Amino acid sequence: MKKRQIGQHPIEVTEIGFGSLVMSFGQLDLTPEKGAEIVSYALTRGINLIDTAQFYQTYPHLRLALRSWNGPDPVICSKSLAPDGYGIYKAIEEARRSLDRDVIDVFFLHEVYGLDDLWYRRPALEALNEAKAKGKIRLTGISTHHSDVAEEAAASDGVDVLFPLVNVASMGIRRGDGFGTKEEMERAIATAAANGKGVFGMKAFGGGPLLPRYRECLDYALNIPGLTSEMIGFGSCEEVDRIFDYLDGTLPADYAPDMNRKELFIEETDCIGCGACVERCPNGALHLNADGFSEVDRRLCMTCGYCAPVCPMRAIIMLTKRQD
Ligand code: SF4
Ligand code: SF4
Repeated sequence: MKKRQIGQHPIEVTEIGFGSLVMSFGQLDLTPEKGAEIVSYALTRGINLIDTAQFYQTYPHLRLALRSWNGPDPVICSKSLAPDGYGIYKAIEEARRSLDRDVIDVFFLHEVYGLDDLWYRRPALEALNEAKAKGKIRLTGISTHHSDVAEEAAASDGVDVLFPLVNVASMGIRRGDGFGTKEEMERAIATAAANGKGVFGMKAFGGGPLLPRYRECLDYALNIPGLTSEMIGFGSCEEVDRIFDYLDGTLPADYAPDMNRKELFIEETDCIGCGACVERCPNGALHLNADGFSEVDRRLCMTCGYCAPVCPMRAIIMLTKRQD
């Protein structure tokens, strides 16, 4: 698999990175052992970039895989939603301890959801840069679904890597209080690259709904000018193989990914209409209906699972129809 340098920084990563959100408690909810098996398989096949987050709770899966891995050290990325310096300090320490690593390669502010939020989290960004100066992380970054945030991050000092949501259908891209476009993200990515930053793309399949357009999604994502690597979520070794088949040109023409493994379900009888999930959804996919219950718009839902943990009633369930 091709490798590229992360912007002007002397770290090489494969053009495909391993996203671990899919195996997390909010999605497939794989055991650490099962998750480690898939991570180990991806490492064996040559993927050298692994993405996790404090929120995903997949450190145990990765740690198991890393302990049994004898090859070159992969590049590890993590992220935190913490808005302040102390929260970031704790998150980095947790990642270093939980992953048995002195240094985390890239650490991101996780899912910055607007320019106001970017401003609010400036102390957190400063803390990332302090941690970099102290050698606890190698590079800083910002992950976002917002094109206006991506534009700002692309031009900002103190941000080494931009991690934007971008896909062929502009699915899930936000701007201000409304929707953004892939063209806006492409411009931000080009600016980031021109400024010497690395760029990792996410949600090439829109979090799942675009999977029927598998080839088209990958053709688009892997050819965005300025993109360093595309993070793909893997829930099985077979899915890892399909990416390699795609890259080798041997993917069967009739390849049809499993579309049935994730679905958001809201148990109305448990919902108290508090609105916490509506506020949490980064994609505007939830609203309170006329009866005051949470309802999902499946055209906008990316099955990311971010809403489930904030529900005080555990009324939101990510159903997984396939267990392997
Ligand atoms: S409704 Fe939940 S699963 Fe769907 S996009 Fe919003 S936060 Fe993600
Ligand atoms: S967070 Fe839970 S209880 Fe609150 S509105 Fe959403 S589904 Fe209902």
